Amino acid sequence: MNLNEKFTTYAVGKTLSYIHKDPEKNLPKAVSLARKISPNAYSSQIDRIEEVINDPDNVFYKYIINMLDRIDEDVFDKTITNFMLNGVLFSEDLKRETREKYNCNVPWTILLDPTTACNLKCTGCWAAEYGKSLNLSYDEIDDIINQGKDMGIYFYIYTGGEPLVRKKDILKIAEKHNDCEFLIFTNSTLIDDDFVD
Ligand code: SF4
Repeated sequence: MNLNEKFTTYAVGKTLSYIHKDPEKNLPKAVSLARKISPNAYSSQIDRIEEVINDPDNVFYKYIINMLDRIDEDVFDKTITNFMLNGVLFSEDLKRETREKYNCNVPWTILLDPTTACNLKCTGCWAAEYGKSLNLSYDEIDDIINQGKDMGIYFYIYTGGEPLVRKKDILKIAEKHNDCEFLIFTNSTLIDDDFVD
């Protein structure tokens, strides 16, 4: 992390603590700060966010306030850091350089299936047809994420099958790559207290 990124991370951390104290008052200030430190390429997205943040009747505004109220503070802050800072702000230059170097698209997310196995058998789903034999090993998932980060990708989406059939490896990967954001499409039946902890 360079000096500029360290300063931005510090500033965002401070801003998040203000947001948690008084979201209604401090969210608009946070968006103004984001405008100052974001590349011009994101000005239209920030326009849209500003519109939402300044309209208490907007459904997304209510959603954000609800998240701030109900999601664990550390989880909320980690999501902002990994998704917004690492995944968008700090990695945009690397993504652009990689696009130019290899003359190909670099996506903002990678979607991967850790397994085709599932603990359910829903009508019409292909998962049962593939059985339990197709799995990415821990090393293969780790390798995909290492390669992704080399290109500036910090957001990963697990689908399947049921990804939580592999929950031990999924947690191990999240601990190792704790600068990335992971989203899991899950039927939720395998979520237990240990996993939530
Ligand atoms: S829970 Fe999802 S993956 Fe599993 S059988 Fe149903 S639709 Fe398919």
